[in-house]
Amino acid sequence: MKNYLSLLLVVFILGALAYIGVQNRLPQEAAVISATQNDKIVALSTFTIIADMVGEVGGDKVESISLTKPGAEIHGYQPTPDDLVQASKADIMFENGMNLEVWTEKLRASIPDVPVTRVSEGVTVQYIAEDAYAGKPNPHAWMSPEQGLIYVENIRKALVAQAPQHEAYFNARAEAYANEIRSVDEQLEDALGKLPENNRVLVTCEGAFTYLATDYGLTEEYLWAINSESQGSPQQVAKIIEVVKEKQIPAVFCESTVEPRIQQEVVAATGARLGGTLFVDSLSDEAGPASTYLELLKHTANTIITGLIQS
Ligand SMILES: [Zn+2]
Repeated sequence: MKNYLSLLLVVFILGALAYIGVQNRLPQEAAVISATQNDKIVALSTFTIIADMVGEVGGDKVESISLTKPGAEIHGYQPTPDDLVQASKADIMFENGMNLEVWTEKLRASIPDVPVTRVSEGVTVQYIAEDAYAGKPNPHAWMSPEQGLIYVENIRKALVAQAPQHEAYFNARAEAYANEIRSVDEQLEDALGKLPENNRVLVTCEGAFTYLATDYGLTEEYLWAINSESQGSPQQVAKIIEVVKEKQIPAVFCESTVEPRIQQEVVAATGARLGGTLFVDSLSDEAGPASTYLELLKHTANTIITGLIQS
């Protein structure tokens, strides 16, 4: 019995000490936990479309930032000193890859410890057929919703690696988002499938629609393969004028990040009309018609259909 009482006393004292310890530690621990909970992962993406996808998968655990702003030209972009400051706050960085953002080299050198995820890793690559970039991967794989699903999976994996405590959350959000993408894919298949057989040639400024054209059975023609300094040469314009006349194409298009001036030369020389502005390399601003990746896909498909059918 004596032993039993001693044991009880020891247990009581230990318990009291532990209680005091907990009391003393609690405020600090609570502060640490709440700071961690409020501390979102800062995810820096090279352009608006990837930032939107990262935001969809990351939800409220991630602050998703795009380095380039809506409407910016993303191929020949030059990072500003402000961009370097922005980049220094990043916990993780996302880029498309496939030679799209050749300008990130300096930026990445300034944040050597920040992990970079190439979201296009594993897509079925379409190659550029002509121009100075012939044989190189066409970087615009997100214009295929099917390939977009691979982007989402790469983003999910990267966020889980960055914050494993939120794995179930990221998994659930990625799955829900993937289902939305699949649904948009079906809508596009259905809508673009209704274009008449003799009205399925898509003429654009940049050759940024190879993935979209491949998925939905369109024929792609473009003024230049990739936005660069050499875009809009007289030869490129002459080639497209020839194609538009020969195939009697009713409408041609240009993209939101490109001046449509050159395409207007084609319009003037052929009688085709300018079918509208396609969103491909950038989202619109929030009030615009392509403020998310999914809206961009739907709006661009609708513009193509309306442009080609109304003519
Ligand atoms: Zn582009």
